[in-house]
Amino acid sequence: MRGRTQSQAIFPLDIFQRLEEVFDRRRDIDRMIRLGHKLQDGVMMAFDQHSPVFIGFDWKGFDAKMEDVIGQLRSSNPYSVCPKCQGAGCDECGSRGWVNLEHWSRLLNAALPPPVEVA
Ligand SMILES: [Zn+2]
Repeated sequence: MRGRTQSQAIFPLDIFQRLEEVFDRRRDIDRMIRLGHKLQDGVMMAFDQHSPVFIGFDWKGFDAKMEDVIGQLRSSNPYSVCPKCQGAGCDECGSRGWVNLEHWSRLLNAALPPPVEVA
């Protein structure tokens, strides 16, 4: 197929364009995750130093909220085209056509045969 990349040849064009847009955002999401960790670590280091600036600050709440934000970013980060629908959208991927790393790992583990017991 002239003028089309190998990926475009594999997926129908509408699915390819949707997935291309989604996967193009991965770098942005990775950057936001790093920024989230940087903010979380920076503020928590101030806690370690018992900074008087933060007297009364909800450290546990802050840490939990940052974990939640970072977790939401991770779950919104596409890792693979959905292995069940190949990007078309299905119940497994919530019609997104892609899965995040955690979801992909879960699907992979479910597809693998059980471990062999060694006597
Ligand atoms: Zn799917």
